[in-house]
Amino acid sequence: MTYKSLYRTYRPNSFETVVGQRHIIQTLQNAIKQKKMSHAYLFCGPRGTGKTTVAKLLAKSVNCINVEQAPCNQCEHCLTIQNGTHPDVIEIDAASNNGVDEIRDLIEKVKYAPLQGKYKVYIVDEVHMLSQGAFNALLKTLEEPPAHVIFILATTEPHKVLPTIISRCQRYDFVRVNRFDIQMRIEEVLKAEKIEYEEEAVRLISQLADGGVRDALSILEQCIAYSGQKLNAQHVNDIYGIATTQDKLKLLNAVIDNDVTVLMQEIDYVTGKNIDIRRLTNDLMELLKESVVYSFTKDKSLLNKLTEDEVKSLNRLSAPVGLKMIEDLMETLEKYRSASNLLSYFEIGLLKLISHTVNKAEESKVKFVDKSVEAKPIREEVLAQAEHELSFVEEQVRVEKVTPRPKENKKKKPQIVQNDDMSLDFLVQLFVSGDKAKRIQIEHLWSNVQNYLSDLAYGKIANLLMDIRLVALNEGFMVLSHSEDYVVNELNMDDNQVLIEDFTERVFGLRMRAYAILYAKSEEAMQYYMQLRNENRLPDPIKFDKMEKTVEKKVDSVEKNLFDLFGQENVEII
Ligand SMILES: [Zn+2]
Repeated sequence: MTYKSLYRTYRPNSFETVVGQRHIIQTLQNAIKQKKMSHAYLFCGPRGTGKTTVAKLLAKSVNCINVEQAPCNQCEHCLTIQNGTHPDVIEIDAASNNGVDEIRDLIEKVKYAPLQGKYKVYIVDEVHMLSQGAFNALLKTLEEPPAHVIFILATTEPHKVLPTIISRCQRYDFVRVNRFDIQMRIEEVLKAEKIEYEEEAVRLISQLADGGVRDALSILEQCIAYSGQKLNAQHVNDIYGIATTQDKLKLLNAVIDNDVTVLMQEIDYVTGKNIDIRRLTNDLMELLKESVVYSFTKDKSLLNKLTEDEVKSLNRLSAPVGLKMIEDLMETLEKYRSASNLLSYFEIGLLKLISHTVNKAEESKVKFVDKSVEAKPIREEVLAQAEHELSFVEEQVRVEKVTPRPKENKKKKPQIVQNDDMSLDFLVQLFVSGDKAKRIQIEHLWSNVQNYLSDLAYGKIANLLMDIRLVALNEGFMVLSHSEDYVVNELNMDDNQVLIEDFTERVFGLRMRAYAILYAKSEEAMQYYMQLRNENRLPDPIKFDKMEKTVEKKVDSVEKNLFDLFGQENVEII
């Protein structure tokens, strides 16, 4: 496919055009001018904030022939680094499992002089994912780095990088890019693409991007694909179902006013837009946090998401109550992980918040007197209903979790997440059954997943699969890893398997059942795999027909569940 994503097309090729991160750019540019390069850099920060972009710019700058204008983007070094073919600039994705062996090998070659450029530059993405062995090899090199080598380590999770590594690097923390800078960037791209737009649409996209330029441009791309030559706010809403700041304020105000009727109406209205409830819950926490900070500082320069008027509308809330509410919402967010019906949890979560404001109202006898007379009976009724629903939801979740999965029947505890249910032995068996060539081939096609993000039938699955890492696959199965529990759990849900298989058949031409695990687990399994391999004890691959049977069996999990609960002899399936 020759199609290039907006993000790639508009990737900055000079330090001046990088969006945000001025503090970092300035320091690096000075270092380049004064030829005071460090041998190791650690770029930390959220995804899509420019770490790899700046790493590449740095690699170009130190190798560029036109020292004064480096990176010139014209000399052979700049050009080959740009298209990824420069022999001395080596990019390693520590997250992909082939990195483990390769990185050791590469680090061993560190001592050889660069082939064409002045410096050998190693860009190691997601460095926290390196195996212990690779980490040690890297550490050794960092202790005595050859003069011609520069390491740029990038990570979204610096706390997982060994302190001994961090202490040998110059560390730069990339921050979320401010909304206005993102808006400007989006507008530049829209102008370059000659697409008309409503400002409100741009504002909404910048809000959705949450500080990530890459995210902003992929959301934009999605919206353009849908809207054609004129992008308006309605299109963005159609695809992403956004709750506006006003919507969120109405929800919070209903809570603060202790008005259950309005609250339920607002919840209905907002969730009717088909929004992402997790994101909404997060956003409400952010707004409350802003209100708490403001009530302490009265400093409007600290406001990020709200205007001063907006934050003042929340200011009837005392800081301690605000903090309690944030805590409650965090708890609700936590519960989503195992929830099958997010909406119920969301409603109950907000109703719980009211209990804080009720106490406050009763204690200080503020304005709510009139409302509480009529609101109270309704509130109690709704709360009772909510409790009932909650127990129902929890019951459902419990049953879901007990559902046996292959190879894991040994231990069955109600709280375990499905990620933990897959034994290392089982995973290694899957690894052995995988086909590396096929995996690489499908990895290349993976970006096609994003074409389905707003698809009616497959949107949900596409969203879940979008950011996963492919650990292993073959016809019949794929092992995926992700950092979030809820993504892992959703991908493992029996109810989703048929859809996932249909989806992978449609996009990649292969029916594959998903086995999803957390990053940490995939790393653990990979190490176990290496150990078994070294000891020559790897199991035989699973046969495909066997694999397909597993898939069939999964679909019948309801029956299996009943058998498990009551014993097969006591259940008759009619
Ligand atoms: Zn150059």
